[in-house]
Amino acid sequence: MRILITGGAGFIGSHLAERLVSDGHSVTALDDLSTGRRENVAALTGHNRFRFVEGTILDSMLVQDLADEAEAIFHLAAAVGVKLIMDEPSRSILTNINGTENVLKAALKDGKLTFVASTSEVYGKAQKFPFSEDDDLTIGATKNLRWSYASAKQLDEFLTLAYVRETQLPAIVLRFFNTTGPRQTGRYGMVLPNFVQSALEGRPLMVHGTGEQSRCFGHVADVVEAMVRLMTTPAAQGQVFNVANDQEVTIRSLAEQVIQSTGSSSEIRLVPYESVYPEGFEDMERRLPDVSKLERTIGFRPRRPLSEIIA
Ligand code: NAD
Repeated sequence: MRILITGGAGFIGSHLAERLVSDGHSVTALDDLSTGRRENVAALTGHNRFRFVEGTILDSMLVQDLADEAEAIFHLAAAVGVKLIMDEPSRSILTNINGTENVLKAALKDGKLTFVASTSEVYGKAQKFPFSEDDDLTIGATKNLRWSYASAKQLDEFLTLAYVRETQLPAIVLRFFNTTGPRQTGRYGMVLPNFVQSALEGRPLMVHGTGEQSRCFGHVADVVEAMVRLMTTPAAQGQVFNVANDQEVTIRSLAEQVIQSTGSSSEIRLVPYESVYPEGFEDMERRLPDVSKLERTIGFRPRRPLSEIIA
């Protein structure tokens, strides 16, 4: 197939591009290189089934032209990273809502199979675990300093499902949880690359709050495997999926495991939220996905162990 990946020079996008090209597909990666990097797609440069286009998803004509050439679209481009979205909420809103609408509109011609990247943040501060795709979504914007990202992604989901309902667009929403692996950088606040970097340099690992908050980390190769299987599963169309590993780990334990596997002499330092984030910041204590729908639909769930992910 001819496939367009927006955000194709990003972390997940570049891994997906490599996998699709190696499976025999032709890939066009559209990216404005705001958080993505050309080096991410260096291995594909010059390949006759790969093309990189530098540009923005806010350019509706460019998006339409590239979509017209494609048979399927993975829409991964977004303003991401805790720090970036807290510093620039309006960028998050503009890119993540207008950009997504451009992609969905462009996909309408010939009704292209379209994947839209969402996030576990749409579950907000839900207290019912695990998070299931059918749960009601309440972001709680008052104390959620990532409200711009969470609400823009929620709107992306609503918009996508409206296109499915009203135009029969074969679209699929992917709710990614913490996805990590090679090429992810800590520049925008991603915890695992930051810990690894600190451990390798012998600096303290800064754990925010008590460290008892937990997350589930999935390996990018597992996430890509799920995406590729969803492509060939017609029953997945029009649906929302948690795409995640459901093995839970506290952030303190994550720091300990990073120190252990790197053989580092770094110490763990607990840092109060107030000294890192603006007043009133409240973290999400847990983010635990229910991945049974994904497994039922494609016969696969991300389950690579944390030790392998850290390595
Ligand atoms: P990333 O920052 O590496 O990828 C995003 C890419 O989009 C970057 O290459 C960036 O340059 C590009 N981009 C940003 N604005 C653009 C624009 N206006 N036009 C064109 N390109 C633009 O991050 P990622 O982790 O690979 O995230 C990919 C997608 O998955 C995003 O939609 C993100 O919200 C979602 N997601 C990721 C995670 C995770 O843990 N990695 C978790 C939840 C959701």
